[in-house]
Amino acid sequence: SEFVKEEFSRGTLRTKVVEDIMTSLKDCFMLSAEAVLDFNTMSEIMQCGYTRIPVYEEERSNIVDMVYVKDLAMVDPEDCTPLNTIIKFYNHPLHFVFNDTKLDAVLEEFKKGKSQMAMVQKVNNEGDGDPFYEVLGLVTLGDVIEEIIKSEILDE
Ligand code: ADP
Repeated sequence: SEFVKEEFSRGTLRTKVVEDIMTSLKDCFMLSAEAVLDFNTMSEIMQCGYTRIPVYEEERSNIVDMVYVKDLAMVDPEDCTPLNTIIKFYNHPLHFVFNDTKLDAVLEEFKKGKSQMAMVQKVNNEGDGDPFYEVLGLVTLGDVIEEIIKSEILDE
């Protein structure tokens, strides 16, 4: 659209990277793959207010899956369904982007429509050991749009 094209020339999308606008891992609402969808877990999920929830195994830095809150619409808390059952049934793809990905590149990814959320990772080669991928947080289409709107307002 014209709006987005204009923004390209202004630069926010070309200069900012996903790490600048992501939600940090410590602030992410996530679920353990081991979770059981009992009354307590279901109410926490409903109260969190997010549409998409990353799922981790063992530790919060090990993201293995994603669940949509709407996947849980037919789940009866009385059944104490394992989250794993739901995850395997829907099998949503999980997307990763590098921390230094420019916003225009991630916007292109989101526009392809596969997903509106990606986990942000970086190559950590700080220690003595082998480099490894470290998850830093998550970024959504909403975060990118918010950034576009913010810069539109500031520019006026
Ligand atoms: P939603 O529809 O879930 O509100 P948005 O894409 O509108 O998702 O995101 C709103 C904000 O919430 C963004 O800053 C995004 O990074 C953040 N966000 C999305 N999902 C989660 C989550 N599971 N935990 C923490 N923050 C999240």
